[in-house]
Amino acid sequence: MKQRLATIGLMAGFLVMGGCAAKSKTSKPSPEPATPRAAEQPAAQQPAAPVWKWEVHDMNRPKPPVVTPGGFNGVAAPADAIVLFDGTDLSQWVGNDGKTARWALVDGAMMVNGTGGIRTREAFGDCQLHIEWATPEKVQGDGQGRGNSGVFLMERYEVQVLDSYENVTYADGQAAALYGQYPPMVNASRKPGEWQSYDIVFRRPRFNQDGSVREPARVTVFHNGVLVHHNVAFLGATTHKQRARYSPHPDKAPLSLQDHGDPVRFRNIWIRPLDLEEKD
Ligand code: MG
Repeated sequence: MKQRLATIGLMAGFLVMGGCAAKSKTSKPSPEPATPRAAEQPAAQQPAAPVWKWEVHDMNRPKPPVVTPGGFNGVAAPADAIVLFDGTDLSQWVGNDGKTARWALVDGAMMVNGTGGIRTREAFGDCQLHIEWATPEKVQGDGQGRGNSGVFLMERYEVQVLDSYENVTYADGQAAALYGQYPPMVNASRKPGEWQSYDIVFRRPRFNQDGSVREPARVTVFHNGVLVHHNVAFLGATTHKQRARYSPHPDKAPLSLQDHGDPVRFRNIWIRPLDLEEKD
């Protein structure tokens, strides 16, 4: 990260907005707002921002190299995990509207079906998360319109879900990207229809009493067992085609999954709440 920031810092000026999402024929407004709460609150005093080398969704940003993952990386829940979905029911989830979650249950998976995003009943801060997902085997659309969903930590910080197997989109919006912020180090995507996994270690942001950011949210992500982010600081809550900003929020918030209109499936979801407070 330091190296990344230092590199960015050397770059002068801004690149023009050419080639961003608006040029993608299939690009939809993405993502659906993580939470209205984030937008309603005043922005926190932001951490020092680098001089931007890349525009948000810059099509000129280099695409991460492709790495074919090894064997499937499904991991059974350890004894101290909270199982959020074991293939049988949606009892741990509600719709983002607060009503009963209405995603379809199909062969031990839950599937996006146009009824809106869902979120966990329980709220979480620091955590280790395992989640498996699959984009539709039958490929339809391209770019952001192909197998789009998302894993929103604390309802705000998105790790993108997308069919990024031989599917070009802006680098900061492909599978495993911190959407609109950082591409994954490599593209470890499997083929459409195949099960994939994210293993995520998330450290929530810390805010000062006045709402300013003391420590940004940080995340480490493995995509299909391949490291794609190491302790990367989120720039703020996920937004679309804007620079992310922080707004103060509680220490715990639900995990949410995005309905972006594509029938993406999820299974084997478990979480281990952690306390990643710095120790003396
Ligand atoms: Mg998404």
